[in-house]
Amino acid sequence: MLRLPPFTYLAPSTLEKAVGQLGEAGPQGMVVAGGTDLYPNMKRRQFEPKILVGLRGIRDLTRIGGSSVQGMTIGSGATLSQVASHPEILRGYRALALAAEAVSTPPLRNMGTLGGNLCLDTRCNYYNQTYHWRKSIGFCMKKDGDICLVAPGSSRCWAISSSDLAPVAIALGAQVRLVGPGGERVIRAADLYRDDGIVYLAKAPEEIVTDVVLPPTDGWRTTYWKLCRRGSFDFPVLSVAAALRLAADGTVEDARIVLGAVASHPVAAPQAADVLRGQRPTPDLIARAAQVAYQPAKPLDNADLTIGYRKKMARVFVERALRELAGLPYEGGPGRGMRAS
Ligand SMILES: Cc1cc2nc3c(=O)[nH]c(=O)nc-3n(C[C@H](O)[C@H](O)[C@H](O)COP(=O)(O)OP(=O)(O)OC[C@H]3O[C@@H](n4cnc5c(N)ncnc54)[C@H](O)[C@@H]3O)c2cc1C
Ligand code: SF4
Repeated sequence: MLRLPPFTYLAPSTLEKAVGQLGEAGPQGMVVAGGTDLYPNMKRRQFEPKILVGLRGIRDLTRIGGSSVQGMTIGSGATLSQVASHPEILRGYRALALAAEAVSTPPLRNMGTLGGNLCLDTRCNYYNQTYHWRKSIGFCMKKDGDICLVAPGSSRCWAISSSDLAPVAIALGAQVRLVGPGGERVIRAADLYRDDGIVYLAKAPEEIVTDVVLPPTDGWRTTYWKLCRRGSFDFPVLSVAAALRLAADGTVEDARIVLGAVASHPVAAPQAADVLRGQRPTPDLIARAAQVAYQPAKPLDNADLTIGYRKKMARVFVERALRELAGLPYEGGPGRGMRAS
């Protein structure tokens, strides 16, 4: 059995205290929300904080407010179960509910939070292993080593962004509120991520994600498709968050397509939206948009299933997601509806 190393747990009751404690802890400290990713990582010695600042006692972080008409603010401490079942989120931001419902199992969704999911560590077959496993193959640069075992000539880490909710937040046009020692700032969800498997977040370590701010639904239809091996629970090895807004005459007013689990950050495909805009979403047009959308997907051999299959399925999933949003027949199903056998 893997055991947690010793650490000090702080339980602030306010955001101000949490920010202060995190600042004081410096590089020794990390925040923990549900702990469903952080504690396993500590057991495998991927993370070695000496001080954990727990967010569970901060009531303000769990608020969910607003409506699909005026826009919503969801506290980072809202659990995935709350996000998946909230009536207003289901009504106006279906892709977010689908993605939350597609994460792991009910006990983990009851503990795991929106903020923890957005800040989820990147994943790689050579990294998400025990300390002894990693030691036996000589470690890699993401922890304890200095080379990349997937691409030995590479000077960077290619670990994969595997959060289910991150691509959706971007496709919804969400913003993220961050609070740190220097005050508060609000950034686009798209700007929270960096194309780097190690420094994958564009926020300071001492900044806490406090809320996700969703714009009014304003006619957008949204969906989320996830490819994974097991139907019961699994991280995505490919996902597609798609949003479509149709004009009164049935043409596409606007579209957003974001691919998950194909790189170290969620990858938007704005060129595919260009193909759709101003056109009627016929099966042919959608097939053309999908052909364009999957080009940026460049999976490496560091996740489950083969590279070729994951790349091919990016096109298939974009096509199916867009057909669903356009009201055309499609195979499979959104959320965790599609898995590879
Ligand atoms: C068996 C298993 C299956 C899983 N399957 C999936 C899956 O299919 N899809 C998926 O997306 N995830 C999956 N997960 C990962 C995890 O359960 C979820 O991503 C969950 O939402 C993480 O939230 P948390 O609150 O538990 O995060 P934590 O574990 O508490 O934290 C995760 C990271 O985020 C940081 N963090 C947490 N909250 C904040 C905040 N407010 N501000 C700044 N940083 C913060 C922490 O410091 C840590 O680095 C799985 C985990 C397990 C163990
Ligand atoms: S991509 Fe390379 S450096 Fe990054 S975790 Fe995997 S093996 Fe390590």
